[in-house]
Amino acid sequence: MTYDPQADALPVSRPAEPGRGAAAYRIFGETLRGMKTTFGRIVEGPTTVQYPEDKAPVYPRFRGRHRLHRFEDTGLEKCVGCSLCAAACPADCIRVVAAENTPELRISAGERYAAVYEINMSRCIFCGYCEVACPFDAITMGHDYELSDYDRSDLIFTKEMLLAEPVERAPLRAAGE
Ligand code: SF4
Ligand code: SF4
Repeated sequence: MTYDPQADALPVSRPAEPGRGAAAYRIFGETLRGMKTTFGRIVEGPTTVQYPEDKAPVYPRFRGRHRLHRFEDTGLEKCVGCSLCAAACPADCIRVVAAENTPELRISAGERYAAVYEINMSRCIFCGYCEVACPFDAITMGHDYELSDYDRSDLIFTKEMLLAEPVERAPLRAAGE
């Protein structure tokens, strides 16, 4: 039997997936920047960093603490509570409870919004599947890695925490300690 490439082709009527092109472009750019960083480190050689006062820069494609995003112009949340990220998560650490937007209370740009959005960071393996699965670039992974805490319950990050700027969590030594 001969291979027929047409049989594997996607149907032309397949609807466009918003955000996929932009995500692929971003990942390609991050790959190039990562290669530049890698070769730069090889040329520079090993360095010692006085952590936590100084922090080593992470690679551009490093996957750290998640962020949820709003539209810059309207302030509406990008997340529409579709749960695709939760379905893609292999560690089952995302919980989404969706609710309907109303004319009186509009939270997101879609029909629904995430009334509850939680990530259990103690279970997350930072694989990035949630970021890739999101059709609206509502969730991305940043470069923050100081996530340790004293209580497991504090590692459940709520929607409000994920929408806000990351807080400084690493205890810094006072001068002379
Ligand atoms: S990075 Fe991976 S394990 Fe962590 S929340 Fe996203 S999909 Fe789940
Ligand atoms: S972050 Fe993205 S994939 Fe997850 S529920 Fe929100 S819109 Fe859906």
